[in-house]
Amino acid sequence: MNTPFPAATVLGYPSIGRDREMKRAVEAFWSGRTDAEVLASDLAAVRRQSRERMAELGLDATNGAVPSDATAYDHMLDVAAAFGAIPARFAHLRDDAGRLDAAGYFTVARGEGDLPPLEMTKWFDSNYHYLVPEIGPETEFAYVDDRIVREYREAADEGIVTRPVLVGPVTFLALAKEEIGDGGSDAYAAGGAERTPFVPLDRLDDLVGAYAGILRDLHEAGAPWVELDEPILVADGDLPRERLLEATRRAYAALGALAERPAILVAAPYGELRDALPVLAEAPIEAIGLDLVRGGVPSEDAAALRGRTVVAGVISGRNIWRADLEAALTKLEEVAGLVGDEGSVAVGTSTSLFHVPLDAERETELPDGLRDWLAFADQKIAEVVTLARGLAEGREAIAEELAGARVALENRLNHPGVHRAEVRDRVGAIDEGTVVRPEYSVRAPIQENLLGLPPLPTTTIGSFPQTGEIRRARAAHRRGDLDDAGYLEAMRREIAEVIELQENLGLDVLVHGEPERNDMVQYFAELLDGFATTQHGWVQSYGSRCTRPSILWGDVSRPAAMTVEWSAYAQSLTDRPVKGMLTGPVTILAWSFVRDDLPLGETAAQVALALRDEIADLELGGIRIIQVDEPALRELLPLREENHAGYLDWSVDAFRIATSGAAAGTQIHTHLCYSEFSEIFDAIDRLDADVTSIEAARSKMEILPAVRDAGFDREIGPGVYDIHSPRVPDVEEITDLLRVACDAIPARQLWVNPDCGLKTRRYEEVEPSLANLVAATRAVRESL
Ligand code: GLN
Ligand code: ZN
Repeated sequence: MNTPFPAATVLGYPSIGRDREMKRAVEAFWSGRTDAEVLASDLAAVRRQSRERMAELGLDATNGAVPSDATAYDHMLDVAAAFGAIPARFAHLRDDAGRLDAAGYFTVARGEGDLPPLEMTKWFDSNYHYLVPEIGPETEFAYVDDRIVREYREAADEGIVTRPVLVGPVTFLALAKEEIGDGGSDAYAAGGAERTPFVPLDRLDDLVGAYAGILRDLHEAGAPWVELDEPILVADGDLPRERLLEATRRAYAALGALAERPAILVAAPYGELRDALPVLAEAPIEAIGLDLVRGGVPSEDAAALRGRTVVAGVISGRNIWRADLEAALTKLEEVAGLVGDEGSVAVGTSTSLFHVPLDAERETELPDGLRDWLAFADQKIAEVVTLARGLAEGREAIAEELAGARVALENRLNHPGVHRAEVRDRVGAIDEGTVVRPEYSVRAPIQENLLGLPPLPTTTIGSFPQTGEIRRARAAHRRGDLDDAGYLEAMRREIAEVIELQENLGLDVLVHGEPERNDMVQYFAELLDGFATTQHGWVQSYGSRCTRPSILWGDVSRPAAMTVEWSAYAQSLTDRPVKGMLTGPVTILAWSFVRDDLPLGETAAQVALALRDEIADLELGGIRIIQVDEPALRELLPLREENHAGYLDWSVDAFRIATSGAAAGTQIHTHLCYSEFSEIFDAIDRLDADVTSIEAARSKMEILPAVRDAGFDREIGPGVYDIHSPRVPDVEEITDLLRVACDAIPARQLWVNPDCGLKTRRYEEVEPSLANLVAATRAVRESL
């Protein structure tokens, strides 16, 4: 256990491969084009490519500097699979030893027939989705699958001594939800009121016992280090803090006491450890990973760090900017001072690098020197390696690199597009008056008159299925194979079909269907000044799904209208109102790489002003209803409660800057993709949208009584069917949901719509589903 920690490392590396080989391998297996053996060798090839690249970039190949953390779907699922901790409904997929084969692993991730997959939710405040383990009082934890050890051996055999990375036991359980199964929790709850309700963290000791098996095998295989990630320690959550700290103490006392194990690094990405820092510092582990990008260099608890090994995460794993190496080096020297001569400092990243794309060098089509400002995963590895050299040998040793980074940073900050007086002035001129609309009591009757909608108006969330034809037309246009006129024609044809379909179905408020949008953020990013898009900048969103976030690098403005031609064309085809469709400022920021030289709130205001102009243009184009989607509002909620209010203030402001220029008679809608919004309910109220649609089908309208009790007086469209599944809901089931909704809140406040956009569905599912939605609405209207 005495191997010194390597001088430079990264907490993790993208799993997807340089050209998304992982996606292709996994999807080929799903489609039956390849078998498990081919899949295994394809994935092994991606792992080999990644670790060779990391070694080539300067991470030491002999001592655990190179992380081994590739996943074929999700790293939370990987831990669950290693320990056989999968819900009872999937028990039949396990072999005698309790293991899942490749097909079984993906079935747990994706569901099958009537068996719903593990739920998916956002990983901390990132746009990555993990699978939520389901853990009950009876869940078995046994070390059944040694994949992580095999992968360690595989790398070692090929000459690279890696550092296996796993989600730590405290985080794994804290992010799990209770398994609700046959008898499981009910039996437990039957114990009576004096019994505290079960939480997965109750199972800590059992789980830690299972981790011990992996650690023993890794030791035997010769692994010098293992990394356990405990990001839950930097976030406020449902569990009382003291409970979390106690769990951490117990878990690492137990793991640390094992006689046969690698040295343990516990890393805490995404924020500041605060009161958990002394807990880790006192634990019998060998190294602590700190996020020094989000968090400051610890001062109060500094004494605890004396003599310890700290992996100082000074290079951001979340942004794509080249680092200010001077500043990073200064931080490293401060940490070196804290740990003293007895301790040691290694250079690391603040988080795993799986949030960023692989290689900025490949972005040859970026404008104007932008590429030189960027650091993707590979450039970040070079940065940690450089800093480690600087720390060991002094600044002079890396003088050239320091100068290069300084010049790049100066070029960026002095670029005319980064600071544009006219944009700053406009943001500066925003005041109270900019962000108020006439009272709702004034707006509502005007809108009612202008729109003349029936009770329980029916609508959809915006997108219609993205058919192969649409995708081909967009791609051909992008390549230049389809000229502007041909493209316009193709999109118009699609819009006309979608309008006709909606009229035939009998929907009340129509949409144009969003065929022109590859992605609800990228579409706008491509049309706004201040954003750039990449060619290869893929990051994993969930499973095999990848997104290519845009890069917001400069001050934002709108050179021309972005959506009016599509919406106005759609409106020209029908007498029913067509809803204009925009993505809100917070969501645009949340799903892009943002700048680090301007507060997020200020960037949001710039984007909001561009949207405000778009709304004005939509009104001029004859659009009377405009929806501003903010599905990411909750996702960006800071991990620490003390920062919630400030965040919600600027994000609500941004929405209001965007929407409050609308006429009283223009009906503003917003759409949020989730139902658990009690935490931000007050903020949603302050958005002051006339109509808010939310996801509600799966939770059976559970949220509505709270909406009523809060005195929410505007209109609301709780989703009546789940668009995540191909299932077609029947009339009766939608009718039942609508009756539940009408019982909970006054019918005059209710809209009828699906949970979310329809773009991932097929017409075979969408048409009958919407027909049933309209039929159910008519039935309920009659009984009003
Ligand atoms: N208007 C978008 C759509 O219908 C909203 C998508 C979302 O909420 N994520 O696709
Ligand atoms: Zn949605």
